[in-house]
Amino acid sequence: MFLDQWLDSFLHTTPWTAFAISLALNTAVFAGSLFVGALLQRLFASRAVSPPPSPITSHELALAACTVFLNSVVLHAGWLLWRAKRVHLEPQLEYEFAALLGGLFGAVLIALVMDGLMYALHRVAHHRLVYSLLHAPHHRYSNVRPLTLFVLHPAETLAFGGLWLVVLLVLQPGWWAIVFYLSLNTLFGVVGHTGVEPIPPSWSRFPLLNRIAGGEVHARHHQEPTRAFGFYTTVWDRLFKTE
Ligand SMILES: [Zn+2]
Ligand SMILES: [Zn+2]
Repeated sequence: MFLDQWLDSFLHTTPWTAFAISLALNTAVFAGSLFVGALLQRLFASRAVSPPPSPITSHELALAACTVFLNSVVLHAGWLLWRAKRVHLEPQLEYEFAALLGGLFGAVLIALVMDGLMYALHRVAHHRLVYSLLHAPHHRYSNVRPLTLFVLHPAETLAFGGLWLVVLLVLQPGWWAIVFYLSLNTLFGVVGHTGVEPIPPSWSRFPLLNRIAGGEVHARHHQEPTRAFGFYTTVWDRLFKTE
C-alpha cells in the first residue's frame, strides 16, 4: 500500500528531510483546522456561544506560527523515538476492520488518559504563579475563533507535546490509535474555539454523551477562566466542582 511505503521512506530518511515533512504535515493540520473551524462556524451560525472576536492581530499570527513550528519539533522528537525503536510503529500496517476498530478503542483510551492529565495541567496553568507567565497569552482572546487554538505560549505547546510523548512511550498505542487520537484531539480543539455549538441539544438527555465537552464548554472557559477546564469531557470539572 502507498501509506506503508510512504511511512517506510519517512522512517529511513535523513533528519532534515524528516523535519521538513513534520513542518509540512503541521502546516497542513493548521490550514485544515482553520478550514474545518470556518465550516463549523457557517453550519452552526444559529448556535453561537461566544460574542464575535475582534480583528486578528499580528500577536495572534506570530504565536500561531510559533505553535505550528513547535508542534513540528514535537513530531520530530516522536520521529527520533520511532527511529530509535522506543516507540513501536510498524510501517507494515493492517487495514482489516478489526485493526481499525482496535485503533478506535485505543484512541478513546488515550483520550480518557489525556483528558485527566490535561485537566490537571490546565488547573496548574491557572495557578497565579504560572498563569501570567505561561497561560495568559491564550486567555488574552476571550472571544474565540479557530485561530485561537494555536495562540499559545511556546512553553505551553512544548508542555502539551511533552505530555503526549510520555503517554506515547508508556502506552505504546500503535499506528491507528495514534492517528485517530490526534484527529480527535484536533477536532475537539477546533470545536472548542469556533464560538458555536455543533453538538445537538438532544445529546444532553443521554448519559455519557452529555459529558462530551463541545463548543460551549471551552468558549465559556475563555469568558470565565475560573470554570470549565476540561478539554474532551466535563467529567473532571464535575468531580472537582469547576463546571
Ligand atoms: Zn482555548
Ligand atoms: Zn485556561
